[in-house]
Amino acid sequence: MTVRARPWLNRVHPYEPGRPSLNSDGSMASNESPIGTSPEVAVAVSAALSGVHRYPDPLADELRKELASQHGVHPDQILVGNGSDELIYLLAWAFLAHGGRAVCADPPYRIDEISTFVVDARLNKVPLKDWAHDLDAMSQVEADVAYIVNPHNPTGTAHSRAEIEGFVELSRAALVVVDEAYIDFTDDPEQTTVMPLAREGDVVVLRTLSKVYALAGLRVGYMVASRDVVTTLRKIRPPFSVGALAQAAALAAVRDNAHRQRVRDHVLRLRGEVTCLVQQAGYLAVPSQANFVLVEVPDELAFVAHLASHGIEVRPGSVLGLPGTVRISVPSDSGLALLRRALSSKPGKAR
Ligand SMILES: *Cc1c(COP(=O)(O)O)cnc(C)c1O
Repeated sequence: MTVRARPWLNRVHPYEPGRPSLNSDGSMASNESPIGTSPEVAVAVSAALSGVHRYPDPLADELRKELASQHGVHPDQILVGNGSDELIYLLAWAFLAHGGRAVCADPPYRIDEISTFVVDARLNKVPLKDWAHDLDAMSQVEADVAYIVNPHNPTGTAHSRAEIEGFVELSRAALVVVDEAYIDFTDDPEQTTVMPLAREGDVVVLRTLSKVYALAGLRVGYMVASRDVVTTLRKIRPPFSVGALAQAAALAAVRDNAHRQRVRDHVLRLRGEVTCLVQQAGYLAVPSQANFVLVEVPDELAFVAHLASHGIEVRPGSVLGLPGTVRISVPSDSGLALLRRALSSKPGKAR
């Protein structure tokens, strides 16, 4: 007897991760932090090593309490996950499985799309308008869950809090999920985040420690939501999905506000530099509020190959649903020098 996957899984196109480059400075495919994590993280992880024969704290209580106090919410409104990607899967299981309906932008953040298909739900993808979510069109779609990614990946565009508040008011979705993975890189994070709505239980906000906190390799994300949503997800989550070292690292990282500020300052400065470089080379760059820049190129394959020959890996737009573009993550200072050299000559024709 051969086992076969459930028929609906034929619709699932698996996630294609970005490739790292040989030289770490050339890795510009995955929106990681180019300047590493807080020095406090190594200290905290070393100390936590003595406890790894024990299971981790299932709910990451210490981390939850710290995050709750930072965001002015009750700890029971927070759920920590193995990256925010795990939380997106939990939302799909709980609120979309077997015939539920979701609405998102087209192109979406790929995990929103994949998790919807994995639980056999229907997804309505609404084309972007001027590289940003078409909030008016999305608000008219009846759905169990609406996904807003703010700033959006892969375009880097952001909506104001007022725009998202307006969407929440009009939306015909039962639950609005706002993924704020890149919120720290917006011009004014405090005024852009919809955390005040999450505090009231009106939306779910997703945050990750993979970007500004530079812990992509340890897999920690969290959500802020109503207690009801958190209680529901706690029923179905794997109890020990966030390891003890990851919890210790995360706690140290979120307490190091100065390091977070350094990463933010670096990203904002180099995002400007990258934007200038690609514009001077004659390409259109979408104005970005994230830690990457989306660039329109005449020949995507040739552009990607040209950068690769200079030791740089970027994300081809066609795997992100935007053929004819590439997404370049904001690099380190040495990475910027690599990029400057690469862009000083033109790509040839792709074979
Ligand atoms: C990078 C990213 C995340 C983070 O995912 P993790 O699983 O926490 O690493 C979440 N949402 C979006 C839109 C992202 O680009």
